[in-house]
This record gives sequence, C-alpha cells and structure tokens, in this order.
Amino acid sequence: MSDIISRRNLLGRALVAAAAVAAVPGVEAAEPAGYTHLAPTDPSAAALGYVSDATKVDTAKYKTYKAGQQCANCLQLQGTAGDPWRPCILYPKKLVNVNGWCSGYVKKA
Ligand code: SF4
Repeated sequence: MSDIISRRNLLGRALVAAAAVAAVPGVEAAEPAGYTHLAPTDPSAAALGYVSDATKVDTAKYKTYKAGQQCANCLQLQGTAGDPWRPCILYPKKLVNVNGWCSGYVKKA
C-alpha cells in the first residue's frame, strides 16, 4: 500500500514539476516530434535563400526582399503564435525562425 502511495506522490510531483518548468519564462516549449530547425545550409533552404535572421538577407541576390518581411508575417508560416521556431509549408518536418526569411515569402493579409 505504501508503495502505491509513494508512486502516486512521485507521479504527482513529476507533473507539478513539469508544469512549473513549462510556466517559467525563457524555458521554450517542446518542439513537435520529428521536427528539426531549418539550417540555411540545408539544400532546400539554400535554394530559396533562407536565413534565420531576415536582416542578413542577401539583398543583392534577392531583390524582392523588403525590410520588415520575415517569417512571422508570412502566409506560409504554420504553428502556434509566440513560438520562436515554427513549421513552414515549404519545408516539411523543419522549423523556421520567426525572424527568418526566404524567397518563398508571401505577405500575410
Ligand atoms: S516561406 Fe515564409 S515562413 Fe517559410 S521560410 Fe520563407 S519567409 Fe519564412
């Protein structure tokens, strides 16, 4: 019997601890399973000039880029508002930085 109570207490404490960690500012939420951050060196990213910081866009090469454009205000961005890394329709199983940009940018209405 005391074993059961101990396990219940342990489980309860683990749940409280997990909730506390999730509520701490600066601790990022878990990313979707099977997703990784998109690297600018990834061939599909490089093909569209993806950068994780839109201020680093090669403006000589990507003349369509306009200041202020970034993943956060792109129609292709998916996921949950407020997350720093989110899925993008153009890059399956990858997360893009909300401050990033690529030439697939479409202004969100
Ligand atoms: S398509 Fe839009 S959301 Fe996706 S990487 Fe390019 S700019 Fe960012």
